[in-house]
Amino acid sequence: MKIYEYQARALMQEAGIPVPPSEVIERADQAAAAFAKIAAPRVVVKAQVHAGGRGKAGYVVLVDSAAAVSENVARMFAKPMVSKQTGSQGVKVRKILLAKALDIAKEYYLGVVLDRAKRVPVMMASAEGGVEIEEVAARNPDAIKKAWFHPHLGLRPFQAAALAAAIGLKGPQAKAATDIMLKLAKLFVEKDCSLAEINPLVQTPTGEILAIDAKFNFDDNGTFRHPEIESLFDPAEENPAEMRAREADLTYIALDGNIGCLVNGAGLAMSTMDIIKLHGGDPANFLDVGGSVSPAGAVEAFRIILADAKVKAVLVNIFGGIAKCDVIADALIKAARDVGFRVPVVVRLEGTNVEIARKMLKEAAIPQLRSASDLTDAAKQVCACV
Ligand code: GDP
Ligand code: MG
Repeated sequence: MKIYEYQARALMQEAGIPVPPSEVIERADQAAAAFAKIAAPRVVVKAQVHAGGRGKAGYVVLVDSAAAVSENVARMFAKPMVSKQTGSQGVKVRKILLAKALDIAKEYYLGVVLDRAKRVPVMMASAEGGVEIEEVAARNPDAIKKAWFHPHLGLRPFQAAALAAAIGLKGPQAKAATDIMLKLAKLFVEKDCSLAEINPLVQTPTGEILAIDAKFNFDDNGTFRHPEIESLFDPAEENPAEMRAREADLTYIALDGNIGCLVNGAGLAMSTMDIIKLHGGDPANFLDVGGSVSPAGAVEAFRIILADAKVKAVLVNIFGGIAKCDVIADALIKAARDVGFRVPVVVRLEGTNVEIARKMLKEAAIPQLRSASDLTDAAKQVCACV
């Protein structure tokens, strides 16, 4: 789960990490009052979206008058933001943050993620923070210093102090950054984050250290333990088809291709996508209907897949273990009747009650339905349809 920068700022503030004062607005006519409330000669106007790269896209701007604030707010609300992280259609801006602008002497990077290879969290720090951090990571990975820590022990103060020194901080600034790293690492563990990142952490000309941008992501499997985090969820930022699937207990991820996939089991769904690719096709989605899928769930899965206008054919790949093939066959027949198949549907069924299922499908005589003898045959057939 992702949250907005303004929500991340509130979490940091609660944890004692210094952030400049700010206001959030949802309508252009709130801009002037927010600017007056911050009462700073210069403010930074920042689009609140669940995507990064805002600075480079022109959705983080520094301004020094109420008129300029209003003008930029109107522009950001009017036009979706397109950045490296959004795709070509961009994302709609529904909220804007106005923050007191700081004079910046230097920008640093701090981030905590889970190191899957080492199976512990890692704190990363760099003296090359700011909008180019992805390029730094690719071009000069040594510029990112790391300290691994056990989640139960937390980041140790000596580790944070060593990182602060490694990125060139000294004296009171090193002490401030050490303190921020300890608090960020604690937040990461306590709130079940999958990412806790401050970029940039800035040093002002007078030597203060503050966080001026942050991105926090949370492990969905842990949010039930944190109602205060769960309440930050904004369905408006989610893909509507993915939201609908979530409500029906289906795991659905929209992709760019044109072959819809309905599969039971995440591993089988992954290999189904691989085999489609192998035969020259492109999956339109990842969809795991789960082991114990109900006919209603499977019908809803068809509705979601077929609602995507890009879909030109569907591959149903079911291995009946816990899910029985006849339940899927029943769902296919219901879906053909209730949803209607506007494209060819290639079906590969194997496992429990497969004979009953094949008989049911044969008797139903659905014109768009094609049976496949095995997975390779299914992939070839579905790729030939698009
Ligand atoms: P991002 O591009 O989405 O990561 O947005 P950021 O909030 O990180 O802002 C991008 C860049 O804008 C920062 O790296 C800074 O260089 C600049 N910036 C943001 N806030 C301020 C500010 O208060 N003062 C100054 N001088 N620059 C800022
Ligand atoms: Mg940033």
